[in-house]
Amino acid sequence: MSPFEIRVADLRRSRAVERDVDLAAAVDWHLELSRLEPSPDGGPNLSLALTLSPVVGGLLVHGEGTCTVRHTCRRCLTDWTEPMTAPISALFADEAGEEDEVFELRDVIDVETAVRDDVLTAMPLGPICPEGCISQLVEGRENDLNTPAPAEDDSADGTPDDSGLEGSPFAILRDLLDRGD
Ligand SMILES: [Zn+2]
Repeated sequence: MSPFEIRVADLRRSRAVERDVDLAAAVDWHLELSRLEPSPDGGPNLSLALTLSPVVGGLLVHGEGTCTVRHTCRRCLTDWTEPMTAPISALFADEAGEEDEVFELRDVIDVETAVRDDVLTAMPLGPICPEGCISQLVEGRENDLNTPAPAEDDSADGTPDDSGLEGSPFAILRDLLDRGD
């Protein structure tokens, strides 16, 4: 049995209540410049804390996956690792249809495809060193941090000040009204 398979027959009955499931698996998922770091002992390198919530016509699997990801900077090709938490959300339905986001609900569901999609989606497409990219320093771009951002013009709403009535038609009208007793 795959570590991603979950027996959910109990949740398909009426009045089923949601329950939590924790899973762990060893996976080798990656994008071009980011990949899950293997566990040093070859054991699981992805932990999943999931909640299985019965919904009308199906089962919602949601929670988060935690892992360590090794990134390669797309500018300077330096490697580094950092922890990552990926939100997981997948709908398993009695009638899966052709839609990508809905998986078929059976007594045992396999969440691997759904989890894999969500974990890979959480990875950056073009990772850059979190601090001090060598390439940035070479190009002198670090000075960009000291360049003032364009000033926000917060006096641009055009509303005249209330005290500016002197000489305006309203001031004249007010004077006329004051004399009209
Ligand atoms: Zn870099």
